[in-house]
Amino acid sequence: MRILVVEDEPALRDGLVDLLRGAGHAVEAVGDGQAAAQRGVHESYELVLLDLMLPKLDGIEVCQRLRKARPDLLILMLTARGSEEDRVRGLKTGADDYVTKPFGARELLARIEALGRRAGAAPAQPEVVELDGCRIDLGRCEARRGTQTTALTAREAGILRWLHRHRARAVSRVELLEHVWGAQPDMETRTVDMTIANLRAKIERDPAGPRIVVSVKGVGYAWGQR
Ligand code: CA
Repeated sequence: MRILVVEDEPALRDGLVDLLRGAGHAVEAVGDGQAAAQRGVHESYELVLLDLMLPKLDGIEVCQRLRKARPDLLILMLTARGSEEDRVRGLKTGADDYVTKPFGARELLARIEALGRRAGAAPAQPEVVELDGCRIDLGRCEARRGTQTTALTAREAGILRWLHRHRARAVSRVELLEHVWGAQPDMETRTVDMTIANLRAKIERDPAGPRIVVSVKGVGYAWGQR
């Protein structure tokens, strides 16, 4: 599986990376909550091993953001606190399972395997959406119009995924920043407009008269035309 390890203690983090790589997983690691939210939203990990107590953004908050942006992502929480309250909070926030520190290597690997099996038992649907003659494979970050296939960046696919999922309404720039960039809403909303301009050039028949990512005056953007 492709796994992101989120742990601020360097020794434990390195240990986890070694352990999981040794078990045949593709592993990347970050040391704080903010980096975790950003990477977890953009990259296509299958599982996030998430420490609860983290600098910058705590594990609960990270879990909420990841869950919102990536409903299929497996989240396994690591908690040093043994209290039932924290575990319940973690699970309610959307974690799939938790392991209490200190844990044994074999226990952790077994939990990860069990989660992977559970996810594998219900294979993810291919994420393909089609509009105005453009076929967009969100999972593979590809758009096809006629015989021409264009690669999308993970962020562009993220924007399309978010707009499509919330296609019943218009979506604000701040909402896109928060959920697709994983950023604080104080980032420049112009960033969103620039990214969408590039995206339109890739997917729209006529980028000046967009029919897939449409502008909604005074609000932001929406999926398709009414
Ligand atoms: Ca910690």
